[in-house]
Amino acid sequence: MKKTIRDFDLNDKKVIIRVDFNVPIKDGIITDDNRIRESLETINYAIENNAKVILLSHLGRVKTVEDKEKNTLEPIAFRLSELLDKEVMFVDETRSEILTDAVNEMRAGDVILVENTRFEDLDGNKESGNDSDLGKYWASLGDIFINDAFGTAHRAHASNVGIASILPSGIGFLIEKELKNLDIALNNPDHPYAVILGGAKVSDKIGVIENLVNKADYIIIGGGMAYTFLKASGLPIGASLLDSENISFCERILKEYPDKIILPIDNVVSTCIDTPTDVREIFINDIKDNEIGLDIGKASVKVFKDILKDCKLVVWNGPVGMFEEEVYSGGTKSLLDYLSKLDAKTIICGGDTASAAINLGYKDKFTHISTGGGASLELLEGKELPGIKVIGEK
Ligand code: AMP
Repeated sequence: MKKTIRDFDLNDKKVIIRVDFNVPIKDGIITDDNRIRESLETINYAIENNAKVILLSHLGRVKTVEDKEKNTLEPIAFRLSELLDKEVMFVDETRSEILTDAVNEMRAGDVILVENTRFEDLDGNKESGNDSDLGKYWASLGDIFINDAFGTAHRAHASNVGIASILPSGIGFLIEKELKNLDIALNNPDHPYAVILGGAKVSDKIGVIENLVNKADYIIIGGGMAYTFLKASGLPIGASLLDSENISFCERILKEYPDKIILPIDNVVSTCIDTPTDVREIFINDIKDNEIGLDIGKASVKVFKDILKDCKLVVWNGPVGMFEEEVYSGGTKSLLDYLSKLDAKTIICGGDTASAAINLGYKDKFTHISTGGGASLELLEGKELPGIKVIGEK
């Protein structure tokens, strides 16, 4: 078992918490503060236990000097201060005497937010490349390290693996909750157990299918990736997304698990993604050569619901249509609505599916909505995440 923040005496200690404040920001305004809210439990626990709290987070990618301006954590410091109802000192540097001095002057209960860790990527990819000097410097600021950034736990960066390799370390409440819920999907499933997979590419989901096909009773497939499976079963797919390198993978899975793999029987199609003027809802067989399948149709939704209705566990990764466009969002919305009312454990993973669920107002209607797209996918593939592997055992 991994150590958690509860396993440390935090009193008067400098506690570095790696949080995930990678929130969408438009014109300096945070448009969705969900990730900040998700980290409050751990931060508040540290404050209540008299720690000196030093927060590290990345925001977006920083490849140019202009990216720095767009990706400063300053607006996040303001929002965090409001949410915590206490002062948050923002240090607009990632490595300097100013930062070291600010940390040395902290008193118990103080909170410092350090500037975007990825500013260190500008000069030689030091954060993302887990530069050992950078890890050592950040570790020198604290006594204890807590990783609570699930969204980057599948990456070995200086701000997680680098620091945790040096300081006594544990996980925060958010990562603890993620691991507990995803463990249900991996090691402790209730049956019948259905996995819904969607999104663009088969290649991204091969590892998940391989790992879950023997654990789940059904793998329901929608989205762009369904078309490679449909092609592999000999059906026409028009101009829909095709992952031609993985047709043979789909053929094998369909042959080995004919009753487990559930594919759409109808779809919403158009000849042009950008100008949806000739949208039709048709059975799969009726697709014309120049038409692109962009959502599952109502008959597929019905087939999927018939399977889901008796399920005791449903894990979902990837939208079943190009849900960003209203005309192609019907399938994803119908399934979200249905699952939100289902008497079953429901786990929503992956950036797109999770943000669709939250934006449509279903935040509290599921057993768990994962905060990490890539990280949850890698866990479902059965991989160990480097940002968690490095954490001390109890
Ligand atoms: P992923 O990151 O692989 O989970 O893919 C998510 C993306 O898949 C979303 O941006 C969707 O718009 C896209 N998507 C879902 N269904 C389709 C489809 N039928 N054709 C093209 N793109 C799709």
